[in-house]
Amino acid sequence: MTEQESSSVLQPKGFRDSIGTMEQSGSRKWIFPKKPKGKFTNYRTYVSWVLLAILFVVPFVKVNNGNPLFLFNVLNREFFIFGFPFYLQDFYLIAIGMVTSIVFIVLFTVVFGRIFCGWICPQTIFLEMVFRKIEYLIDGDRNKQIRLSKQKWDAEKIKKRTLKWTIFFIISFVISNMFLAYIIGIDALERLIVSGPIKHYDTFIALLIFTVLFFFVFAWFREQACTLVCPYGRLQGVLIDQKTINVAYDFVRGEGENGRSKWRNGEDRESLGKGDCIDCNQCVVVCPTGIDIRDGSQLECVNCTACIDACDEVMEKVGLPKGLIRYASEDEIKKKEKFKFTGRMYAYTAVLLLLMGLLISLLFMRSDVDAKILRQPGSNYIEQDGVISNQYQYTLINKTNKPTVLHFRMVKPSDAQVKIIGSEDKITLKPRETKQGTLVISIVSDEVNQTKEKIEIAVFDENEKMIDTFDSTFAGPLRLSF
Ligand code: SF4
Ligand code: SF4
Repeated sequence: MTEQESSSVLQPKGFRDSIGTMEQSGSRKWIFPKKPKGKFTNYRTYVSWVLLAILFVVPFVKVNNGNPLFLFNVLNREFFIFGFPFYLQDFYLIAIGMVTSIVFIVLFTVVFGRIFCGWICPQTIFLEMVFRKIEYLIDGDRNKQIRLSKQKWDAEKIKKRTLKWTIFFIISFVISNMFLAYIIGIDALERLIVSGPIKHYDTFIALLIFTVLFFFVFAWFREQACTLVCPYGRLQGVLIDQKTINVAYDFVRGEGENGRSKWRNGEDRESLGKGDCIDCNQCVVVCPTGIDIRDGSQLECVNCTACIDACDEVMEKVGLPKGLIRYASEDEIKKKEKFKFTGRMYAYTAVLLLLMGLLISLLFMRSDVDAKILRQPGSNYIEQDGVISNQYQYTLINKTNKPTVLHFRMVKPSDAQVKIIGSEDKITLKPRETKQGTLVISIVSDEVNQTKEKIEIAVFDENEKMIDTFDSTFAGPLRLSF
């Protein structure tokens, strides 16, 4: 079959003119995917158990002297990543970390397509491995679900819908609580639960809003989150190419010389030039996004592998080799080429390694204490008893779980005096405490020869270890010499 012929076989229905979950009128076409079963479905189930366990256990894990493993308290601007506290001052690290993650996802997508969507994405895992499984238990498989949807609202339908939606709502509520634990921490969540919703009605209302949102997504919106909302799916067109490994239909084998055709017992398909696809539609009815993988790579495909399992089962039944739908690149199918790293993949890998190196170095160089000293905006000098004084503002952050004691010392000029307003010579910071205040630096008038003297201040800890130094200016009077 020529390339032109194969592409016409692959695009017979103008499938790119519409999406699988929408009627021509624009109304929603509800998908009733057949319950998938097979090797890949089993593997994905095991992976989802592990990931769900991690997702629900992580909020309880404390490391590094009682720090949460992960916490993203946007409201209080408190972040913990792998037990290490991060502050707004460390935002550049989070930004580099995010850029690194994006490059990683890009590289991963260039090589393995949308494997993330099918195996790791929380939307797919919750929908396919939690909510959909409950739906199969209550409503039954595809045919029973179709029948139930067309059925009038009799006792059976009311009972099944009430049961299903109640369970969905409870699970959505649990998911909301779990996400809240990532924001406020498990201890704070426990306190909220113990003291009851009336006392913290504002948090409870927020929880209910998120519960309704999750319920809406998993009970109704479903695959549309992937096909209409998720930006990652839309990026596929620019990320994947003919070398990318994806869930793919082997159109060379499936279409043969004369295209796919229904199975007929005893027929010699090979001599008739028929492909191995027996047009049974099993790969279509299992698809949770309602597409036909035989039409080629599509934005809606979330790489859930259900069509691989469905087709393998069919191939086994008719005695043909499995893998008509499999993880493969277009080049592997068309040219029988094995996977190899392309120039684009090498380039992404180099950028990824550079970013990872930068991130790791910055993490190691990150200090336990953060200090900032700035001249008091709008302030002027004061001259009294032969001494000139200037005011400065300081901000000190203790990023550790231990108290620390800090003090300031002048580096240039070394004989200048530093006084902390309203405090002793030293400042004690509790674990993870931020303190701000005012410093007065005094220099003997005779030593101030310019209106803006350059000075240098250092911050030391209790072990006399220098934390940081700061350059600033010191304002003095204009001295005219004739
Ligand atoms: S085409 Fe196959 S892998 Fe893609 S979403 Fe449908 S069933 Fe899943
Ligand atoms: S399940 Fe396999 S044989 Fe059946 S229609 Fe799909 S690709 Fe063809």
